[in-house]
Amino acid sequence: MNEIQSTLLALLPPNRKNTSGGWVSFNAVCCHHRGEKPDSRKRGGIKTDGDAWTYHCFNCGFKAGWSPGKLLSSNTKQLFKWAGLGDTDIGKLGLVALKYQENMPRPDKVLNFDLKEIELPHPSLSIVDWLNTGLDDPDLVAVVEYLLGRGMEWNWYNWHWCSAPGYRDRLLIPFYQDGKIVGYTGRKVTEGKPKYLTESQSGYVFNLDRQARDRQFVIVVEGQFDAIAIDGVAIMTNEPNDTQVARLQALGKEIICVPDRDRPGAKMLKHAITNEWSASLPPWEDDVKDVADAVKRYGRLYTLATILHYRVQGEIKINLIKKKLENLDE
Ligand SMILES: [Zn+2]
Repeated sequence: MNEIQSTLLALLPPNRKNTSGGWVSFNAVCCHHRGEKPDSRKRGGIKTDGDAWTYHCFNCGFKAGWSPGKLLSSNTKQLFKWAGLGDTDIGKLGLVALKYQENMPRPDKVLNFDLKEIELPHPSLSIVDWLNTGLDDPDLVAVVEYLLGRGMEWNWYNWHWCSAPGYRDRLLIPFYQDGKIVGYTGRKVTEGKPKYLTESQSGYVFNLDRQARDRQFVIVVEGQFDAIAIDGVAIMTNEPNDTQVARLQALGKEIICVPDRDRPGAKMLKHAITNEWSASLPPWEDDVKDVADAVKRYGRLYTLATILHYRVQGEIKINLIKKKLENLDE
């Protein structure tokens, strides 16, 4: 048992009983400090789980607690005070909590820059290579029609196709990093599920390889098609993880977030604020839901021009466009 918990247990009234659900109950120490009658019916309870504990008063409703990795909350400090601990000792416990926090492994802070090379499903070739073999396959034709139908061009990406069953009705998009393939997604071009078959690694940012060039900015979007449409990067979700953030920061360019035009899209803007990135929500028509739609409707150049023109910076301005997304219908 750690010092924080043992200190509290030593201070709480000794007359205790075990009650259902793992609570140990005693006369609460909080109520009379909060304008309620002192508890005489053992309405205070503490429940422990390893080093963590929760205090709950079923008389006045006061709650406090601590678990490894957390600092002492103001309620928790208050509880110690009411239980009879002096300020100096409370300060010492605060340091104990801080030490715990510093020594905790923080999985969300572990950066993963090592991406292993993976193989595409077999046999895969770029669509151009398939066509150059003279292959005339209706499924391959359907895949080409799909990509052109989405307003994409054959030379915007190294589109692939795999002739194996289970893949042949999909457009394969390989994920590259430092020239090697580290994942892929296969977008179904006909009705049916799953829409995407994806093999990806945590921390990967799609299309980052192509950002080392003269552009002063990098456009961050959610999906692969959005990224390909304007030659930006995709985080493939609406919230980047720490490794993705670190990869983007390392580019040393202006980062412009362009969220999907739906409510979850607002989450990306939170990260734009935290990381001091720009964000853009151009006034495209209402039925244009993402960058890929915009490129299909307006073309690549106009889409890019509006993204740049309408980009904003700073918490206040980004929060305004964040609200717009949050207020959209489901
Ligand atoms: Zn109470």
